[in-house]
Amino acid sequence: VYQAKEDNTKYVTKEWKNWSGDVRFKPAIVETPVDEKNVQQVVIKAIEEKRSIRAVGSSHSCAAIFKTDDILLSTERLKGLISFDIKALQATLQAGTTYEEAGNALLNAGLAVENIGYIDKQAIGGAISTGTHGAGKKLANLSSQMTGVRLVTGLGEIKEFNEIEHPEMLQALRVSLGSMGIFTRVTLKVLPSFIIHRREYCLGTDDCINHLDQLMEENRNFNFYWYPRRDDVKIILCNFPQGGSSHQLPFAKLQKEYSGWGKDVIPSPQELRFNEMEYALDLSAAVACFQEIRKRVKQKHRPYVGWRILFRPVARDSSFISNAFERDIIAITLHQNASLPFKEYFDDIEPVFKDYGGRPHWAKKHSLKAADLKSLYPEWDRFHEIRKQLDPHGIFLNAYLKRVFLNASE
Ligand SMILES: Cc1cc2nc3c(=O)[nH]c(=O)nc-3n(C[C@H](O)[C@H](O)[C@H](O)COP(=O)(O)OP(=O)(O)OC[C@H]3O[C@@H](n4cnc5c(N)ncnc54)[C@H](O)[C@@H]3O)c2cc1C
Repeated sequence: VYQAKEDNTKYVTKEWKNWSGDVRFKPAIVETPVDEKNVQQVVIKAIEEKRSIRAVGSSHSCAAIFKTDDILLSTERLKGLISFDIKALQATLQAGTTYEEAGNALLNAGLAVENIGYIDKQAIGGAISTGTHGAGKKLANLSSQMTGVRLVTGLGEIKEFNEIEHPEMLQALRVSLGSMGIFTRVTLKVLPSFIIHRREYCLGTDDCINHLDQLMEENRNFNFYWYPRRDDVKIILCNFPQGGSSHQLPFAKLQKEYSGWGKDVIPSPQELRFNEMEYALDLSAAVACFQEIRKRVKQKHRPYVGWRILFRPVARDSSFISNAFERDIIAITLHQNASLPFKEYFDDIEPVFKDYGGRPHWAKKHSLKAADLKSLYPEWDRFHEIRKQLDPHGIFLNAYLKRVFLNASE
């Protein structure tokens, strides 16, 4: 099991890096199990040898969340649609399946996931574990689509939980950052496959803010990108052809519109690499927070930060450490081109997020430690009780998790 594979250059170079290229490390071993039994063997051997393990999906996280100098377990060979139930609107997939692959397989069955994020390249296990979200005031994050899961725990046991019999377990597991076990199979609630009509408009930032409530209310998927250099915004609206606001917006200039399967039309093509920081703000605080960031960027960062800031509404959920736990949120995301320095810019804006009570995206850059995070999450202690039941020896903890869960310095 512990042999590096020579047929894949990833293992030959021995360095693993995330999508943006900023997180780089050399795991002692890379495991690529082919099935659940194989995952279990890896975990049991790690327990016997007192080693630690981090799972990795598509390596799209910007935080050092899967970084390890010990065992990295890639789910890249755990792929495919296992089963689906058209009446119950549920589908079970292997956890390493990406949303793109899931979308294609589900379409053949006449089904689709309710929503996806900005891209569809993430593995389902990876996206769910970090509370990845799309955009839409009435759409909760992708973790909320998970109705059941099978995992290999830190004791090497295969366990299965579902939201009917084990609601609290699901509240803990949905957003758990790979700290409770390796997800092997995930059951998602799905919809009959659907067509989406997408429109992109350009407009002045103040015009967008003045129409914000209406835009969020009337459109299934809504988000905007603010461009600091021009101080204007692009808005993206996605609706069912028969629903949502289909009228043209008199206060904005239409740039592009097209229709297709939701799986193809909701995500945006993304070629330029970036590093990112994101905080989730309470809906009621988000505009004031955004305006303060806008002011600060214009005053201090505009000559160096040519890129965009994203503003995306997400509906509340009940996962213990989801950043939308029991509150509707706006996710505000700073993007910086991966070839440019980001630290000074992110460090200067982060206190604004904190002042407004923001909760960080677990998979993106932030500096918070357990001591800061505990007060942001009312069910923090319960989450950790369950984590310790499933991983009593802490074999899934790495330096990042020790910082955010145990207050350690990274
Ligand atoms: C271009 C781009 C666009 C993005 N768009 C969005 C967006 O629209 N919305 C948003 O919220 N975020 C977005 N993100 C962030 C991204 O969705 C998260 O980083 C997500 O976790 C990445 O999925 P992954 O499969 O690459 O996971 P990885 O980065 O590989 O892993 C993330 C975490 O999940 C754990 N994990 C992975 N697989 C498993 C498993 N099977 N069992 C248990 N734990 C597991 C890992 O240990 C790690 O802790 C984007 C990132 C990029 C680079």
